[in-house]
Amino acid sequence: MKVKAAIATGQLQPLVIDEVDLDGPREGEVLIEIKSAGLCHTDQMLIDGSRDWPDYPVILGHEGAGIVREVGPGVDRLTPGDAVIPLAMPECGECPPCRSDKSNLCDHYFKPNPRKPLSWKGRPVASFISLGTFAQFVTVRAFQVARIRDDAPLDQVCCMGCAGITGIGAALNTAKVAPGSSVAVFGLGGIGLNVIDGARLAGAGTIIGIDTNPDKQGPARKAGMTHFLDARDYQGDSVVEAIHKITGGGADYAFECVGHPVLAQQAVDSTRMGWGMAVMLGIMPGAVTDTIPIRPRSVQAGRWVTGSYLGNVKSLSQFPQLVDWYVDGKLTQDNLISHRIGLEQINEGFDLLKSGQAGRVVIDF
Ligand SMILES: [Zn+2]
Ligand SMILES: [Zn+2]
Repeated sequence: MKVKAAIATGQLQPLVIDEVDLDGPREGEVLIEIKSAGLCHTDQMLIDGSRDWPDYPVILGHEGAGIVREVGPGVDRLTPGDAVIPLAMPECGECPPCRSDKSNLCDHYFKPNPRKPLSWKGRPVASFISLGTFAQFVTVRAFQVARIRDDAPLDQVCCMGCAGITGIGAALNTAKVAPGSSVAVFGLGGIGLNVIDGARLAGAGTIIGIDTNPDKQGPARKAGMTHFLDARDYQGDSVVEAIHKITGGGADYAFECVGHPVLAQQAVDSTRMGWGMAVMLGIMPGAVTDTIPIRPRSVQAGRWVTGSYLGNVKSLSQFPQLVDWYVDGKLTQDNLISHRIGLEQINEGFDLLKSGQAGRVVIDF
């Protein structure tokens, strides 16, 4: 079938809106009509060249929500008409991480997926992390598609497959934020707002947001932020001192949501000696050999430094509960979407995201 999509032809090139050919679902796959899709900084990095990608042209996009229109042979979990969110992380249910309650990192995520259901001008086109939601329809493997409740507003929950799961999951599953505890969140973009939402849901008493843009205070306070620090007012590590002062000795948890090495170091140092935990969420630009400047004494003092990938939330068995919480009014998801655009405005959408002025930018198809 012919579908309209945004195609990335190479780094530092604007996305091209054009019709592409999409193959229908084969064994184990489903065809989804995408209703809304979110723009994420990870997509941005493949456009602005701050992250390597071996395979252009590619359809980017890894946040979205839609309706199943067709199922391939062997798919019995999903039927046409189901409301779904496709996720980057599969849950095959059979590999060691899927059988363990310690991790959501299904082995299939790390295996190459040679299948390319899309083609453009007769040439195969890659789909970013086997998704490619910047298209009217996608054909994806059923084991990376979460069935969600039918009454979920797709234009609101469309950002939950990356920003939502990452932020809320990091607070609840990775850090396991305790009631009455203190939390520092570096960066109030899509991920940071969801960390705040998750921390509030967990009952955190003090939630400090740190950002260079004071306009982000409004959505963050709605999500549950109790204190705001304008990063421009703090030189060097004085922001760390400010967090220690507010929390009376350091935050119980800190979350780095920007992807900046200095902020990673400050996040670690802003936590309390003895039990503070710093969770690294932002994707660091640059080569994979780059390092984060964490002071040995900071960790020797009993702090924990950990990563978290998609919030340590299993895509099929645990993620739908987050959508339930949203529909039941426990999350403030709609709060993080600042702009809505059509597919044709996608390049302007990424400009907005890069400017730091936007929360989440969403494409409505
Ligand atoms: Zn993302
Ligand atoms: Zn698995």
